[in-house]
Amino acid sequence: MSELQPILISGGVGFIGSNFVQHWFSKGFGPVVNLDKLTYAGNPENLASIEGDPAYTFAHGDICDAKLVAQLMKQHHPRAVVHFAAESHVDRSIAGPEAFLRTNIDGTFTLLQAAREYYATLTGSERESFRFLHVSTDEVYGTLNPDDPAFHEETPYSPNSPYAASKAASDHLVRAWVHTYGLPAIITNCSNNYGPYQFPEKLIPLMIANALQGKPLPIYGDGQQVRDWLFVLDHCRALQTVLERGRVGETYNVGGGNQRSNLEVVTTLCALLDELVPESKFKPHFQLVKYVTDRPGHDRRYAIDARKLETELGWRAEESFETGLRKTVEWYLANSAWVQNVTSGAYQQWVAQNYDSR
Ligand code: NAD
Repeated sequence: MSELQPILISGGVGFIGSNFVQHWFSKGFGPVVNLDKLTYAGNPENLASIEGDPAYTFAHGDICDAKLVAQLMKQHHPRAVVHFAAESHVDRSIAGPEAFLRTNIDGTFTLLQAAREYYATLTGSERESFRFLHVSTDEVYGTLNPDDPAFHEETPYSPNSPYAASKAASDHLVRAWVHTYGLPAIITNCSNNYGPYQFPEKLIPLMIANALQGKPLPIYGDGQQVRDWLFVLDHCRALQTVLERGRVGETYNVGGGNQRSNLEVVTTLCALLDELVPESKFKPHFQLVKYVTDRPGHDRRYAIDARKLETELGWRAEESFETGLRKTVEWYLANSAWVQNVTSGAYQQWVAQNYDSR
């Protein structure tokens, strides 16, 4: 398909989606249509740098809206769909799983059906090159013991949280649409991302935001839960690689080989903040750490074996955890107004005024 045709992205003003769209534009890969509901986690300001670019179209709406999704495909004739939209926070899924089932399962189903109908209208090289890329998580595999080998593409699914279960269900739907209907879809399962524009409810931005205000740094349980961290731009490059060269019907695990316990992450962050904010009243920032009751059913360890993506498609994570974390802290320090905005409620008011009345 021609690079002049857009890709259709869902959830593209969220954390990973907005980094992906910026990466896509920085490389000049062509137009983007971005469908996003603007939940608390979606912020159009994340894409202020490309707003007004004629190659960028924002569509405010819900992936569960079958009519809208079908109309967008018909109108924009995308060469690919990249599906990011999800409810993504595990704690929120424990407090209220309904929205997770709706968006992550029903929403994926709706997008798949629309893509299937759209794909049926394509012929020739357009049909040949069309792809549906489903962006998923390593949490579908469940939890690992300290000595277990890392998750690989054949690891059985064993999701433990409502979030992970809803993403696992969505992965199964994608797989079924490939096998039953021949939709040319690919799934990626990625480890924990960090970087600019991450909503400050997730571990790293929450700790930075709290430390700067002298608020407690809550650590679940003993803080020994291990995650395999990946800088968000490395994830974006992986997605672009899979979109270009991944094999239809395959799954690719994405990870940076950076296993760290939550306590190690917070310790490193506090040391970085001590160095980068020497005038802080709250130094040493580690004194703000507060151990809190563990999350119910908290997975102990995730680790990703990304060898398939590395050997088959030649992708490699470029950012080390240390340099990526430094860049991330520097970004949050330079963008305190962004944090203030997304956490203050003013942003939701702005969405109501600018979008809900349309
Ligand atoms: P996010 O919560 O930051 O962003 C989600 C985006 O989806 C927001 O812009 C939101 O407005 C939008 N959205 C939510 N419900 C919608 C709906 N019904 N219709 C349209 N848009 C809707 O999430 P993220 O961290 O950027 O994650 C993006 C994707 O990557 C998710 O599918 C997630 O499961 C997956 N993933 C995330 C991580 C991670 O560490 N953050 C790791 C692996 C995989």
